Amino acid sequence: MGCGTAMLSDENLAKRAKRDFNRMKGKETLSTNASHNKMIKEIGERIAGVAQVDLPGTEWEFVVFEKKEANAFAMPGGKVGVYSGLIELADGDADEIAVVIGHEIAHVSFRHSNKRMTQAMGIALGGVILNAALRDKDSTDRRLATGAYAAGTTLGMTLPYSRENEREADHRGLFYSAMAGYDPRAAIRFWSKMKKSGKRLPEIFSTHPNPGKRIEFLESHMDRAYALYVEAKNARGEKPNP
Ligand SMILES: [Zn+2]
Repeated sequence: MGCGTAMLSDENLAKRAKRDFNRMKGKETLSTNASHNKMIKEIGERIAGVAQVDLPGTEWEFVVFEKKEANAFAMPGGKVGVYSGLIELADGDADEIAVVIGHEIAHVSFRHSNKRMTQAMGIALGGVILNAALRDKDSTDRRLATGAYAAGTTLGMTLPYSRENEREADHRGLFYSAMAGYDPRAAIRFWSKMKKSGKRLPEIFSTHPNPGKRIEFLESHMDRAYALYVEAKNARGEKPNP
């Protein structure tokens, strides 16, 4: 089709994501809760400030959707959505919410959607006839290839993140939130809460790490993250949580 590469450029993906995001804003109920909106904007901007080095020139936008599901997402080009259900599950705790926003923004800075998309295009362009050839593939592959065919819509959101993507986003996201001055230990609190509630962070289709393993992984990076948090708090002239 000749446009394979161009189709996957950061610029093109950002443009499509922006269109999808605007469409979503037009269709879904936006939160009118002033304190939710203010909090998400502040957390988002502080984390975006840290992520700026990985994503220069991004037109960030943070929107709270009035939806019961505990969910959040970030699309290529810096379009970030947080559902009111997530804020509720986090009991309005900014540190916990920052961990999730950090995780979502880390997916963008790793260009996970772009990579999944490239992979999906590879599957699709390889001349694979979807239903027949993918019958034996696992459902992730099938969703990837189907997603590539449905590329015209909700591009940033149709493709599942792999377990490896999740781990990378957990790792970098923890440091993003800490460097933005949010207590990274909230990650343990938040994921434990998720585990206990039996809920999952849907992020549409991610392949979710086992919650116990995720907590263990985050714990293993906590000393370093905490040190960065203390540094960030000091730089802000604020007192870190002991
Ligand atoms: Zn994720």
